Amino acid sequence: MIIFQFFKLLYLTVLHLIAHFFLSLGKNEQDRQSLRSEWIYKYMLRMGPLYIKVGQILATRSDLIGKEIANRLRELQDNTPPCSKEYVREVFTTELGQSIEENFEEFSFQPIASASIAQVHKGILQTGQTVAVKIVKKNIRQQLKQNLDSVQLIVKFAHWLLPSVRPLNLPVRFQELYTLLIAQTDMKQEAACQQDIYNNFKNHSYVRIPALIPELCTSSVLVMEFIEGIKGKDAHQVDLPAPLLARRFQEAIWGMLYFDGYSHGDPHPGNIVFTKDGKVIFIDFGITVKLSEDEKWGLSSFYFACNRKEWDLAVDRFTKYFVVNKDKLLREWAQYNQEVVDVLKLHFEVRKSRWSTIAYFQDINKVLRKYEAQYTTTFTKIDLLLLSFEGFLNQIDPDIDIWANVRKFIDRFSPYINTAVKETFDHYFSEHSPNSIELRDRAQNSLIAPTHIDRYFFPSTYPLFIKKASGCKLEDVDGNTYVDISCGYGPHFLGYAHPAVTTALIEAVQMGGVNVMGNLPEVQLAETIVDAFPSANKAIFSNSGTESALHAMRLCRVYRKRDKIAKFEGHFHGFSDQGMVSSWFRFTGSKDQPEPIDGTQGCHKGTVQETLVLQYGHPRSLERLREAADELACVICEPMPSLMATYDQEFLTELRSLCTQLDLPLIFDEVVTGFRVAYGGVQTLTGISPDLTCLGKIIGGGLPCGAVVGKEELINIAKSSRDPFVDYESKAFIGGTMTGNSLTCSAGLAALTYLRKHPEIYTRLEQQTNWLAQELLKIAQDHAVQFKVRANRSIFSLSFTHKDIKFFREKQAGSNFKANLALAYYMRRHGVYMPELHTLMLNGSHTQEDLDTICQAFNHSLQEMIRDNFFVM
Ligand code: PLP
Repeated sequence: MIIFQFFKLLYLTVLHLIAHFFLSLGKNEQDRQSLRSEWIYKYMLRMGPLYIKVGQILATRSDLIGKEIANRLRELQDNTPPCSKEYVREVFTTELGQSIEENFEEFSFQPIASASIAQVHKGILQTGQTVAVKIVKKNIRQQLKQNLDSVQLIVKFAHWLLPSVRPLNLPVRFQELYTLLIAQTDMKQEAACQQDIYNNFKNHSYVRIPALIPELCTSSVLVMEFIEGIKGKDAHQVDLPAPLLARRFQEAIWGMLYFDGYSHGDPHPGNIVFTKDGKVIFIDFGITVKLSEDEKWGLSSFYFACNRKEWDLAVDRFTKYFVVNKDKLLREWAQYNQEVVDVLKLHFEVRKSRWSTIAYFQDINKVLRKYEAQYTTTFTKIDLLLLSFEGFLNQIDPDIDIWANVRKFIDRFSPYINTAVKETFDHYFSEHSPNSIELRDRAQNSLIAPTHIDRYFFPSTYPLFIKKASGCKLEDVDGNTYVDISCGYGPHFLGYAHPAVTTALIEAVQMGGVNVMGNLPEVQLAETIVDAFPSANKAIFSNSGTESALHAMRLCRVYRKRDKIAKFEGHFHGFSDQGMVSSWFRFTGSKDQPEPIDGTQGCHKGTVQETLVLQYGHPRSLERLREAADELACVICEPMPSLMATYDQEFLTELRSLCTQLDLPLIFDEVVTGFRVAYGGVQTLTGISPDLTCLGKIIGGGLPCGAVVGKEELINIAKSSRDPFVDYESKAFIGGTMTGNSLTCSAGLAALTYLRKHPEIYTRLEQQTNWLAQELLKIAQDHAVQFKVRANRSIFSLSFTHKDIKFFREKQAGSNFKANLALAYYMRRHGVYMPELHTLMLNGSHTQEDLDTICQAFNHSLQEMIRDNFFVM
């Protein structure tokens, strides 16, 4: 059968060539060119769906095949001969068990588009909704298979006969393509991809994915909302300057690859529609490109390095994530590295304004071939995607500077300040905060982390140096005042220098601060905390939230006689090796099945591997927990991760019940939330009791403090048995020089006592936070800025994105970090201090006037940021 197909291909090709030869005899060059275009068009059409696909891609590459042929081949994108009316009727009745009339008020049998695999009709459902109905063409799967089989045979022959092409490993590559293309004939699979990408772009300001009508989607039929638009090939009719439209389109594809790791895989003009006002509508999700978390990381870190001209790094990243069969190149690394660097420099520096990813890929490929290496499958797909995409981009805007756009794109999502933003603020801050600037420069000689200057991932270009803090007001060393929404990352819940706390602290200082010796405030603070948490019988103090998490995990290891810890992706438990695993910056594995990855270099690899990473709110996590239970010491989670500002009651309930079943201690890290979301934390709000609770921040009244509280049975593991040998065999040591010192405990006790007496603070803060969130949202909407605010009981976070997200890893992706970073500095010019990239918080001293100041500052900041082109699109 395959042989037959092969000969058929040969026969038809020869026949077409002969016909073309005779017809062109005696014609002039122009006529011959038209004849050639016609010949290629007919040949592709006659040969079947695979060739039509190739024709569609070629149609975008007038730079390669000439304008005339490209124009003719464009017909293949949406104007191939359709199947008959009878066939359409038959598909409906067989697949849906209902006639067209039963589903549609109106149905046009004349397709609005017809391409390689399917044809599209317009209809009006009985509900009145206008829809597009995609129907797989007759016998298309079979035809495509025949096409693919015959080409596969040629590929195998070539591989066998020609030693020079063998290193390309073409049969394997072709098999991947085979699977990808065959899958295109299954509308069920396409519908699933469309739904995923639809979810990623819901609420996007200029990208639209048609919504599906799921009950009418089968393996041969796909029904979706109909969006009126201008066909891709008529992009010039859109009321938007061509460079802007092209850039939007480019950003959409880059965003899909970069952030979602899930892109439309075949964006030729037949698959793109524009609205008159310039929205980009993607249709046809038969081919998609999916990147793993690691590949996403690889792609963005590679381009980030290229943008910064860090060539060796770029080679390293590219090779690590996108090259296979690396033996030879690793052996000859220095030379390989130099050759790739030369290609990178040529394309990213010398030819950057005439950037072509395709030309770049070709050159890189040459080097890879020399070293008997190849792209990974994913990169091959990216290559194919960019092939049709960039051709189309050039059609929309022939002067497009693709690399310049990519650079802007990369920069926007980088958390570091760029030269343009810096110039805006250098002048301002040197004028308004000269003393802070001077201190910043001076401090750089003796300080790095953890103060806020050159700190890992969060470097602050303009750190503020504070002279005085009171309530929610800060005064810097230059005499500027600000309304604060950092609360020092959480501890200052009552406001800075609250009289109840300062009075207690002054008294304690006057009495002489003590540590490692018993003192009344320590006992009283323990009693107060234990009293606040129904799940707690006893407390153990430490000096920070990090230590409290470490202590809790140690107690559980002793209890369970197991080492491994289960934690959740995006949950931060302090700076310890395990506390940072998959915590906020880097993720790996799939969404439902994350894998552990170090949160920073320097983590003990064994500790990282001894961590089971789960997805908060995902049902698969509970199954994984059950499967791994026998190896686990405990599960630790932030019941309400502060950056997400929300908790999942149902999930927590199930988690609690599973942990009880498995006798697996459940630790709630309430270092942030403990006394912030309610007196008694998230567990009070949800009614779910953990076995241990980690606390910090507020319980020290502004001084360093941490605590673990919980069930006696667990806490007592730190209590001596009064037999040193038994202690060594079955107890955990927990201690620290400053632990439970009288100054911290006096301040903490004063803060908590005040809070217990003033529960109205919580009600007020909840109202204030909700009000503020709504106002900020309204302001952003008024300015038409894509913006999300997440808020819950005094905690809130802002991001410049269109996305509603469920999982933490989605939060990082696609947020305009540059805008977030700059917002902090614009806000400061209007009298509000917020950290550059952190959760924001209100405290008990914020008044309505302060909230108004925040709103006004936000309004002015957005105006200025729009003026300064932060949201250009
Ligand atoms: N746990 C959570 C949830 C936190 O947010 C933090 C810090 O922000 C910690 C633990 C660590 O606390 P500390 O910075 O006091 O060590």
